[in-house]
Amino acid sequence: MFESDLPESNLSDADLINDLQSHGMRLVDPRVGHEARRGGAGPSDHKAITIGETTVMVPVHTAPAFESPFLVEPPDAKGQSRVTRDGAEIAKVRFPTKPKFYDLTTADGVPYSQIATLHSRDVLATTVLQTCIRYESRKKTCQFCAIGQSLAAGRTIAHKTPAQLAEVAKAAVELDGVKHMVLTTGTPKGRDRGAAVMVESARAIKAAVDLPLQGQCEPPDDDIWHQRMKDAGIDALGMHLEAVTQEVRERIMPGKATVPLEKYMSSFEAAVKVFGRAQVSTYILAGLGDTREAILEMGQKLCDMGVYPFVVPFVPISGTPLESHPAPKPEFMASILRPLGEMIVRAGIRSEDIKAGCGKCGACSALSTYEKLKVSA
Ligand code: SF4
Repeated sequence: MFESDLPESNLSDADLINDLQSHGMRLVDPRVGHEARRGGAGPSDHKAITIGETTVMVPVHTAPAFESPFLVEPPDAKGQSRVTRDGAEIAKVRFPTKPKFYDLTTADGVPYSQIATLHSRDVLATTVLQTCIRYESRKKTCQFCAIGQSLAAGRTIAHKTPAQLAEVAKAAVELDGVKHMVLTTGTPKGRDRGAAVMVESARAIKAAVDLPLQGQCEPPDDDIWHQRMKDAGIDALGMHLEAVTQEVRERIMPGKATVPLEKYMSSFEAAVKVFGRAQVSTYILAGLGDTREAILEMGQKLCDMGVYPFVVPFVPISGTPLESHPAPKPEFMASILRPLGEMIVRAGIRSEDIKAGCGKCGACSALSTYEKLKVSA
């Protein structure tokens, strides 16, 4: 039922990105590129590279990456780095340069890079609250998450104030041409599940700079929060399932699994009414135990609702309980992303239709590259 009949043409970039993201890459010189994703909420431990016109995030600090068959050489005089596999060159890539706003510090002495970071090439990202009710006990924590690590390492601050976010967002737009911004958060105690910090942050940022924003939080208790977030300046909303089968949810994220899947589905429905089709999305980590069929079945349901199913390969982050869990095989990822790309195109909710956020950025998955393949009739 989910077999893809995509033509084989144009598959090489999508498959190469998929292979790199599943295996990770070894760097001859680990200092090249900037640490775009280290610690923080959700997937982490990546570096950004640009292949042709596409910038993607590839794991570098993970166990599979240390064993990766892909070796990346330092940049040549033209700024290009050779990628080899078994000694043979398979691609040339570039590392985005360090953003200029990283050199700045707030009036109260906090480096801008501790308030927000550059993801991919033109996305500003921040974890507004670096603490989470799900992270307070190892029994409840999401096993893949590293939200406490960058805080413990002093690479970020626990709560980014609306004023700090506005200051950094303005600078990142002016100095580095940032095009959209992701605001994620650890889940606070209140029943709004993080929606209230989205509201106060978005209001301040939008007052300072015209920048499309994606908010990310758990489904708020009351659907009224969707409209409040929209009114405050959130353009797109992410509510992340991470896993789609209840057994996998309970094993991987015992705290978050107490929120029933039905709550996510009803919140998605309410959010699409407020934000519109394609402007609501969810992150699904493939490789944690959900079958291909379960992910594609959920993907179809979400597409029908107008919710963008952003499926990314699970990356085992060092220091988390899942650091030794294997990354998914590239063949497994491709067997999901190809048909999912078709579903998304057919539903008219492509990555490029999204106003802001992870789905629009797309750098953590090869999914958006598969969407660009010609869909068969
Ligand atoms: S997809 Fe999301 S988490 Fe990944 S690089 Fe882009 S903005 Fe960051």
